Amino acid sequence: MAQEIHVIPNWINGCEHYPETKGTIDKFNPHTGELLCRVADSSSADVAQAVTAAALAFPAWSDLTPVGRGQILSEIVAAMKRHADKLADCIAIETGKPPQDAKGETGGAILQAEYWAGEGMRLYGRSLTSGMPGKFSHTVRQPRGVAGLIVPANTPIANIAWKTFPALICGNTVVLKAAEDSPRIAQLFAELTKEAGLPDGVFNVIQGRGQPAGAALVTDERVNVISFTGSTGVGRWIAEVTGKRLARVSLELGGKNPLVVCDDADLEHAVHWAALSAFSNAGQRCAAGSRIIVFGSIYSAFRDKLLAKVSSLKLGVAAGCDLGPVVSQRQQQSILTAIETTKAQGGRVLCGGGVPNDPELEDGYYVQPTVIEGLATNAELSCKELFGPVVTLHEVDSLEQALQLANATEYGLTAAIHTRSVDRAMWFAQRVKAGVANVNMGTYGSEPHMPFGGFGASGNGTREPGIEALDVYSELKSISFLVRPQLL
Ligand code: NAD
Repeated sequence: MAQEIHVIPNWINGCEHYPETKGTIDKFNPHTGELLCRVADSSSADVAQAVTAAALAFPAWSDLTPVGRGQILSEIVAAMKRHADKLADCIAIETGKPPQDAKGETGGAILQAEYWAGEGMRLYGRSLTSGMPGKFSHTVRQPRGVAGLIVPANTPIANIAWKTFPALICGNTVVLKAAEDSPRIAQLFAELTKEAGLPDGVFNVIQGRGQPAGAALVTDERVNVISFTGSTGVGRWIAEVTGKRLARVSLELGGKNPLVVCDDADLEHAVHWAALSAFSNAGQRCAAGSRIIVFGSIYSAFRDKLLAKVSSLKLGVAAGCDLGPVVSQRQQQSILTAIETTKAQGGRVLCGGGVPNDPELEDGYYVQPTVIEGLATNAELSCKELFGPVVTLHEVDSLEQALQLANATEYGLTAAIHTRSVDRAMWFAQRVKAGVANVNMGTYGSEPHMPFGGFGASGNGTREPGIEALDVYSELKSISFLVRPQLL
């Protein structure tokens, strides 16, 4: 008898909600290629219902004190801790991450949640001076209303926590558009919010495609703030639509992040971080180090060490594996096609370049970790994000040239430099076009209290998380009193 395939529904007003159209999207296991579940293919009418639920829940939720909201968020944190293994197992299966990576991501999401639950006891305003005698002024933060949060599948529970907790602590209610490739983790999280006592309607989930479901959230006039993490092309469209209707928008978009290795770098250390930056999470990080820029005098030595390191990386989903598959067959095919195109443009594939030759992995969406050299700096793969385990190597003669190359894409998300010279490190970090610049580390590694976001086509200038996220999810109001001594 054929096994019945589970359908993941929406979550509206504190319960499961199946779209009336009954349409579904197939979701496959990235490691085996087998059908894992079906996902509600929501229409704009389903999105409208979720927004209505969030709008109706808004007055009561925003009326709670921030401390009161923080206490409820702390209960969600406790529920996430109780169910951490279940969350990690779900991420591992849906995204094809090795277990230690899925656990690490879950731990990061819990830390994020803890940080924001504590914000209930801060949410500081400022007291302001005045030129008018007797006038006393201060600022307060007020919620914006319904927040539409749109996330990708690459680090799904981290992405959900990153946006949901600051939105809720500020007093907004939420409609989350889950990623097509990580539907179950959003549903699990919604169930935990219920277990923790979050009032119905405060957090809702819409499953489905970017178009129509995500787009309906963006265009709904009742959604006052949109926070989107995803590709630059979709981000540009969202900026246009939300710009027209003057909704607040935060865009966290793509990256083509440079990692520079100077001639005075600790090469073993640099190779370690270069490999992690390029290949962890199978390269599916906005902050992946996908361009390595190396000083000519150490180029061959660095390249040989990197290739040795890459050949030792273990593919698979077992504990201790370094990288799993990419999340979908579509993504796998687009990466393989890009590698083939690159060869025609003069790129030399030094290792990888295809699917692994391992019968245990042949049904999954695997791409070998791939290192390419010889590409022109303006070749497509040198400049455009691929979102997979592929890195290009570039040789330079000086720090000036390294900086010029580092800044030569439309993006500006993160960057790293490896050097023993504090002068070189500071010179580079000050000048590189990036929202995050790391010295002697990888290109990723943000923490809940640190603002993250990019220059150029990597975003629209907002920063999340850290206290800067409060500017996304709240409105500032200035309140003034005039004290009249004659009335004493
Ligand atoms: P994507 O833009 O295709 O999809 C992201 C989300 O947006 C999904 O939930 C999708 O359904 C939805 N979506 C798609 N079209 C939409 C539309 N027209 N309206 C509303 N929603 C829509 O991106 P992806 O391929 O899933 O994710 C990879 C991208 O995300 C990469 O570019 C990566 O760099 C970026 N990313 C950025 C950050 C960051 O913090 N800057 C973090 C992680 C990922």
